[in-house]
Amino acid sequence: MNKKILVTKSSIPDLDEYVEELKDLWETRWLTNMGVKHQLLEEKLKEYLDTENITLFVNGHLALESIIQAMDLKGEVITTPFTFISTTHAIVRSGLTPVFCDISYDDYTIDVSKIEDLITERTSAIIPVHVYGNICDYQEIDRIAKKYNLIVIYDAAHAFGERIDGRNVSNLGDASIFSFHATKVFNTIEGGAVTYKKNELKEKLDQIKNFGITGPESIESVGGNAKMNEFQAAMGICNLRHVDDEIEKRKKVVERYRERLSDIKGIKLYEEKENVKSNYAYFPVLFDGYKATRDEIFEELKKNNIFARKYFYPLTNDAQCYKNKFNVEETPTAKYVSERILTLPLYADLELSDVDRICDIIRNI
Ligand SMILES: *Cc1c(COP(=O)(O)O)cnc(C)c1O
Repeated sequence: MNKKILVTKSSIPDLDEYVEELKDLWETRWLTNMGVKHQLLEEKLKEYLDTENITLFVNGHLALESIIQAMDLKGEVITTPFTFISTTHAIVRSGLTPVFCDISYDDYTIDVSKIEDLITERTSAIIPVHVYGNICDYQEIDRIAKKYNLIVIYDAAHAFGERIDGRNVSNLGDASIFSFHATKVFNTIEGGAVTYKKNELKEKLDQIKNFGITGPESIESVGGNAKMNEFQAAMGICNLRHVDDEIEKRKKVVERYRERLSDIKGIKLYEEKENVKSNYAYFPVLFDGYKATRDEIFEELKKNNIFARKYFYPLTNDAQCYKNKFNVEETPTAKYVSERILTLPLYADLELSDVDRICDIIRNI
């Protein structure tokens, strides 16, 4: 049997490097609660993401719930169902109503031409997703948000470090959330962050992630617990040293996939854009009119011990817990894409010979 290839493989530093980074913790015994590692990682990420304001979290999901709380969203939020379930859950768990906008067939991000029709008196925000690292049409979203006085929070979980028109994605909209989960381009084992424009959100977010505590004898708000601990932050400090190399290696893998899979009838690849510096987070392939279906390709790869993922299938508005609440027929393009898309294995040290093997299976099916 061929060796097992999973859709992703977490990036980790050499064990010695991580142990070295942890040594002071054995001296100080300061293991969490915004210790030196947490502070250092926050500073380093501020620089890397070219942002004025950043707050770290224990994971990306709670980063999203926390910024929703901090910005005091109410009523309805326009978003897309073609995303990881976290985006929709964060809206619902915050007591808000998600209103699903369809996606564009070209890059799978929110179809900006359909947003205005969904705006009502109750709409308070738009939460678009830079899905697979494909950056949303932020200029049009800005225009709409300004016209209707809406807040924009990007789910940028897939877009770490990317740039568009010379700007880092962390600066788009009012705020962006990032995930540093083990499977993401940059990881802190579990982890996440919010970047944002308004300085005054810093204090609110710091309270939300630590029980609303502001001093030894003062609790100013009803916060929860969503702090990143020192071991996570130390992992982040190490991984950040290597992330540019990792992205460079991912790029080579993506280029090989593109070489072998472009110009095949019925296979659609996402078009690379000149104004975007990509992080090569995912390699989604759309099987639309190909000689085999997405599900057939998925099974054939599995027979060869290769595990691609049906990202994103099902749509979030079709998840069991949301059945009878939302209607997938309202987002026909998202439905169409989710039935035909497959993300292929992609990680920094995926061997090019394995990429060739995967492509041969797809081509020769
Ligand atoms: C990973 C992910 C999240 C959640 O991040 P966690 O760090 O796993 O909590 C949110 N949105 C999207 C699009 C994601 O891919």
